[in-house]
Formats: sequence, C-alpha cells, structure tokens
Amino acid sequence: MGDHFQIIVDLDATATGAADAGARALDWLVREEIVRAERTDCVLGAPTGHPPGERWAKAVLEPDWKPTDGLDVKTGRRVFLGGQGDARYAICPRCAVRTWFYTETWEPIEEASTAFGEAIRAWDATGEAKARCPSCEQSSDLTAWRWDGDYYAFGYLGFQFWNWPEFAPRFLADLARVLGDHRVVVVGGKL
Ligand SMILES: [Zn+2]
Repeated sequence: MGDHFQIIVDLDATATGAADAGARALDWLVREEIVRAERTDCVLGAPTGHPPGERWAKAVLEPDWKPTDGLDVKTGRRVFLGGQGDARYAICPRCAVRTWFYTETWEPIEEASTAFGEAIRAWDATGEAKARCPSCEQSSDLTAWRWDGDYYAFGYLGFQFWNWPEFAPRFLADLARVLGDHRVVVVGGKL
C-alpha cells in the first residue's frame, strides 16, 4: 500500500504573503483541533509535521478511518503536482477547448507536451509563464489553465496532508475563508 496525500493549494497567496497566510491557517487548524500544534515525525519529505488533532473528523467527508499521518505546511514558489501519472490535457481559460498532451493510450503528443513542459519549468523558475492555446491561438497565464484531474497547481502556499480521508467541501470553504477568501484547489495523489 502506498502513501496517499492531499495538498490544499492556496491559489491567491503571494510570494510575500504566503508565510503569514500559512501561519494564520495553521493557527486556525490547531484551534479547531484538526491538527496538533506540536511537531512529530508524521510526514514524508520533511523532517516533521503536525499530527491529527482530537477533532480531525470534522475536516473529512467520510470519517471511516483515522488519518495515520500529519500535515506539512509548504511555503515558497512551487509547482504542486499529483503523485504518479500526469495530466492528460489542460483546458484553455479563454475558449475552454482541451489541449491534449497524451493520446488515449498515453502516447505523448510531442508539440503540446513540449510547449507546456517548458511553460511549467519557466513558472517554476520565475513565477510567471504563459501558455498558448493551439485552438484559439491566444496565450494565457499558465495559472489560469485548468488541468485534467487537478493534477497541477501553481502557488506559494500548500497544506500537504499525508494519509487522510478525502476532505469535506465545507472544511475547504472554511479554510479558504481563513486564508482571506482565497481560492483553493486540492491536488492529490499517491507515492
Ligand atoms: Zn483557447
């Protein structure tokens, strides 16, 4: 059995505002007893994180099983991505047409996957990139595109929970409000 994660990504936190927003949200999560304030060895990819609190079940859709691991708050520019696999397509913010990177049988479609791969690397390096839609021929900010299965999210603040049941929409809405009415998206996957 692999390790499953969900990353709640704040799409509106800025490079300079992410640390404050992250601290404010963590404070709220601790007050609500969704996670604990102390740090233990309970996450992958970081030395320590915050283990589940007494009232973790409030945050999830179906509290069928108790989360086994904790929360790692990530600040700083980052391309957040689902674990295994890739996005099969992205949806243009202007014309809503899908640009495909792979065929039905996961054969890469060279031109599109190369162009978007370059845009993703550029955003990772600078925090800015545009991608051109082959359909309407307009360029849009990479962050405005939507991705197959919400595979990608580009931002400066993410809350990565390891081995938790799926989050409830109401919890996500409450967290978004605490962040300052920011937009959030959940990127999830398995390692
Ligand atoms: Zn388009």
